[in-house]
Amino acid sequence: ETELIARRDNVLGSSYRLQYRRPVHFVRGEGMWLYDPDGRRYLDFYNNVPSLGHCNPEVNAAMAEQASRISANTRYLEPRLVDYAERLVGTFPQELNRVVFTCTGSESNDLALRIARLVSGCEGVIVTSHAYHGTSEATAMVSPNLGDAVKLSPAVRMVSLHGPAGVSEKQAAVFFEEQVRSAIADLNRRGIGVAALLFDSIFSSDGVWVDPPGFIAGGVKAVREVGGLVIADEVQPGFGRTGKNMWGFELHEVVPDLVTLGKPMGNGFPIGAVVGRKTSMDRFGSAARYSNTFGGNTVGIAAADAVLTILRRDRIKEHAHVMGERLRAGLEHLATRNPGVRGVRNAGLFFGIDIGLDGTGAAGRRAMALEIVNLLRDDGVLISTTGANEDTLKVRPPLVCQAEHVDRFLEAIENALKKAAAPV
Ligand code: PMP
Repeated sequence: ETELIARRDNVLGSSYRLQYRRPVHFVRGEGMWLYDPDGRRYLDFYNNVPSLGHCNPEVNAAMAEQASRISANTRYLEPRLVDYAERLVGTFPQELNRVVFTCTGSESNDLALRIARLVSGCEGVIVTSHAYHGTSEATAMVSPNLGDAVKLSPAVRMVSLHGPAGVSEKQAAVFFEEQVRSAIADLNRRGIGVAALLFDSIFSSDGVWVDPPGFIAGGVKAVREVGGLVIADEVQPGFGRTGKNMWGFELHEVVPDLVTLGKPMGNGFPIGAVVGRKTSMDRFGSAARYSNTFGGNTVGIAAADAVLTILRRDRIKEHAHVMGERLRAGLEHLATRNPGVRGVRNAGLFFGIDIGLDGTGAAGRRAMALEIVNLLRDDGVLISTTGANEDTLKVRPPLVCQAEHVDRFLEAIENALKKAAAPV
């Protein structure tokens, strides 16, 4: 193991990070479980890509069938591509009726930025202060979450999500709008102008923020007043994760101009998309060229088509809502007995759990959250951390999780909390 880590570091370099103090090697996945070479199983409460379960047999069969017939690009007539595109846009509000396919979330955001910049004629992008939007140069430059490792674009402005702790719902909305307005004013003063407000609809890397409903509406309005586009990054919250809704932006009572998709769209096969309003998409389409060799290829479409079919047929988002309620109730109960849990936020099966004991400061809270993640890993349960101070547990199980998995997770986190809080 140590030798493999050394060889890995040697050939892959330092940008490849391993998760957990004791890294894990998985050889097989099935449903909610990942298996190591010794046959030990780990409950996956972290991976949101295989949202229909690891190695979903139906999705795999659809891909295998397509791959053994033909794998082709979008320049040929392919009924399934058109059928899927129609079904996909059918899950959006009717104004959002055009789609372009990509391979990753980064490509989707990159394309959305190109569209917004072309349509608005401006460069400026407003993002939240710990946002992550992708790997390409343009998306990395609007991803403050990458920290000092990346130089942010001079055209980016950051907004925080909430005022001081304990603000009312109305204050949260006013706070957000004020910041957006001052970002707009600054971008305009410097002649940069506003191309877009780009936000992750569940603010996953900002620490998972959901409430209050409608708190971003004022900011959205302000951006539109100056001709900027509103881009919802649904790479994390999309495809039913937030429970009752198919899309995270529905939590916020706004209809974006562009929506970017990725991760769970193919349950593990790389496929993404930008869905948008006809006017913007067509302006871009006629002014610029976008040809993506693998975006929308027949195998990816087969995977995505199977995913959408299962999501519908098995009422997965409704199930995610029910399981999310169960997990939330369990965590809230846990919080009453355990001072290490400072707060629980969720939409469906996307949770942020704030960790830390009173009086331990930011570093103490971060250390405790990290300790819990590693204790859980040792106990065979996978999660990670998020948030400005990385002291929020990020919990996003595949959406097919059942009551028994939720209960197992609750038991494991309670044990981890007790151990992490115990004096050394
Ligand atoms: N947007 C968000 C919100 C993400 O979380 C990610 C990936 N973590 C991306 C975009 C980029 O997606 P990808 O890694 O598929 O390019």
